[in-house]
Amino acid sequence: PVVLGIESSCDETGAGLVREGRLLGHAVASSMDEHARFGGVVPEIAARAHVHSFTPVVRRALDAAGLRMADIGAIAVTTGPGLSGALQVGLAGAKSLAYALDVPLYGVHHLAGHVAADTLEHGPLPDPCMVLIVSGGHTSLLLVRDLARDPIVHLGDTVDDAAGECFDKVARVFGLPYPGGPAIDRTARDGDPRAVTFPRPLTGPRDARYAFSFSGLKTAAARWAERHRIQGEDLPLADGAAALQEAVADVLTRKAVAACREHRVDTLVVVGGVAANSRVRALAEERCRAAGIALRVPSLKLCTDNGAMIAAVGDLLVRAGAEPAPLEVSIDPSAPLERAALHPKGDCR
Ligand code: ATP
Ligand code: MG
Ligand code: FE
Repeated sequence: PVVLGIESSCDETGAGLVREGRLLGHAVASSMDEHARFGGVVPEIAARAHVHSFTPVVRRALDAAGLRMADIGAIAVTTGPGLSGALQVGLAGAKSLAYALDVPLYGVHHLAGHVAADTLEHGPLPDPCMVLIVSGGHTSLLLVRDLARDPIVHLGDTVDDAAGECFDKVARVFGLPYPGGPAIDRTARDGDPRAVTFPRPLTGPRDARYAFSFSGLKTAAARWAERHRIQGEDLPLADGAAALQEAVADVLTRKAVAACREHRVDTLVVVGGVAANSRVRALAEERCRAAGIALRVPSLKLCTDNGAMIAAVGDLLVRAGAEPAPLEVSIDPSAPLERAALHPKGDCR
């Protein structure tokens, strides 16, 4: 069947249509610009924007795929993690459509969506594969077997900030526009990463091998900026951005490649919004090539939040014969990533 995927966990409203691993069409609307003057996502504004965008985005996805509402055979929707008001809007919309069309509904974990995004361009994931998820709220190294059937093994997670959060917060201190990640990437283009040396957290011999920490790095970058300001100097922003990006990319790729080696896994998949970072992509490429590891990274548009990735998970679940969610399914704003299917029951408000 054609699976409609709905994403609304943060500031992107996404709808995508997937059949048998193939992306037929998708559309995304973002409320990013409405949050810019607040320097971060405002939950209430995000939820209202989803109400506004839901129907047009579904319509645009159908048009892009050349399909009609009646062609939809199953619906997958992000039920967590994410902002609760934002998740509620997508889930309410998805339920209404599933009820009206009388098709099965699947609750999907947002991060499983980020992983599945890669399959739309590069085919089924090998079993096993190593996955580095780097996004606005998460930084994890995962051992993934069959995404639709097997539990996901966490080798390590961040103990404090996510990599994307580090970019976003440092960008704010640097006075760069929102959202920070892409701004750091652009600014770093003209910089020298060796002009400043930022720490490489948790890379010492006695540190947890696959855990990450980015809050110390964020503080180091903020102090560096502060020192320049106190001395009344212009901030060499390009160098600072390049050095920050280098430190993040170094830590991420070093640990990911080490995890592949230790677990004898020959494929690394890098996903999530920070996988869009040019230095993360380049260094992952360089280090995987040197280590004989096959690297898979989605194209930029499928790295950040979208509905196609949620449809991709739904399609995998349908083909694996997974049990659909009851129409009473609720959201789980802080769901840990244990399985791709997320069907929380009970009272989530
Ligand atoms: P999560 O997926 O953890 O729930 P999220 O959905 O908000 O969080 P994504 O949409 O996956 O996160 O990614 C957004 C993050 O990616 C932001 O932190 C943003 O700054 C970062 N990002 C996007 N593009 C780039 C880039 N080119 N360089 C660095 N960071 C980037
Ligand atoms: Mg976003
Ligand atoms: Fe995301």
